[in-house]
Amino acid sequence: MSQVLSWARPEIVALKPYEHAAWDPSLVRLHANELPWRAPTDSSRVGLNRYPEPQSHALVTRLASLYGVRAEQVLVGRGSDEGIDLLTRAFCRAGSDTIVICPPTFGMYAVAARIQGAGVSSVPLVAERGFVLDVEALLAAVTATTRLVYLCTPNNPTANSLDPAAVTRVLDALADRALVVIDEAYIEFARAASRAQELDARPNLVILRTLSKAHGLAGARVGAVLASPEIIGLLRKIIPPYALTQLTIEAALAALVPAQLVISGERIQIILRERQRLSAALDQSRLVRKVWPSDTNFLLVEFHDAAEAFELARRAGLIVRDVRGQLGLANALRITVGTPEQNDRLIAGLA
Ligand SMILES: *Cc1c(COP(=O)(O)O)cnc(C)c1O
Repeated sequence: MSQVLSWARPEIVALKPYEHAAWDPSLVRLHANELPWRAPTDSSRVGLNRYPEPQSHALVTRLASLYGVRAEQVLVGRGSDEGIDLLTRAFCRAGSDTIVICPPTFGMYAVAARIQGAGVSSVPLVAERGFVLDVEALLAAVTATTRLVYLCTPNNPTANSLDPAAVTRVLDALADRALVVIDEAYIEFARAASRAQELDARPNLVILRTLSKAHGLAGARVGAVLASPEIIGLLRKIIPPYALTQLTIEAALAALVPAQLVISGERIQIILRERQRLSAALDQSRLVRKVWPSDTNFLLVEFHDAAEAFELARRAGLIVRDVRGQLGLANALRITVGTPEQNDRLIAGLA
């Protein structure tokens, strides 16, 4: 057994997965107790009367080519959230195993761990130096029970990318100790490149990607785990067989054809320009103490009085994210970059 599988829960490694109905589109399906007719309202391409193909070959192949990896290195699920949930359940024994997070960061890592009964160890990012990783403290926090170490880059809600050299140090140091899960939800908006090309060289590397942000499909719920074939094989055993609906599979495939990728590329450029413009405008506001540099499609903004700013935005008909409850963000709001008109409204509202 490979070393990474020795870190997984033994009962999951030994699990015999549910055997879904065989998938052979060339045969008429009389084996899954489906109705032979579509619902009259069904406008899907292949018909919602049929169960969807588990781990849709077309979608997995498309995502593999988009991310520059092999199909056997891809698990497609209901957003990165499902990837986080599956990793936690596959690797963390309730009551004994732990994860390490670097707050302030995405909340789902800790929530998934708590649902599973796993421990959560926190190693804060260093705010004074621009929310950088404290590599020494992080490595010191990893123990024999640590299974997953989450690095979110670019990070939500601080908007910065982690220093690639620091991430490399963590990957190297933990090569024989734990999985390092790099959440690249915002990588399309960042200057830094994805680490997906390192999967073959690093068996302990796991990457999370999503179609929710740059591809505009948050409502469809599609994300991918990229990892070694061993890890992907393990996660395929525990993901519900029909996790993605047929509608979702069709929506994702339609959004990933070359012509659509050109459009999403253009939209990313608009967001990057607007990010710059919004950041400069907020910087001029007397309400603002600091606009943090952003490698994402949002800005972390520190106000003199965040409650007041939140209320002014609300009066302009805009809801922004109150992140004041998060570690070290006592007077901050997280503001998504919108259309030029929406950003104008925010700027006017806070003027
Ligand atoms: C938005 C976001 C995701 C995406 O989650 P989905 O379940 O794919 O929608 C993942 N990670 C981070 C850090 C995010 O901010």
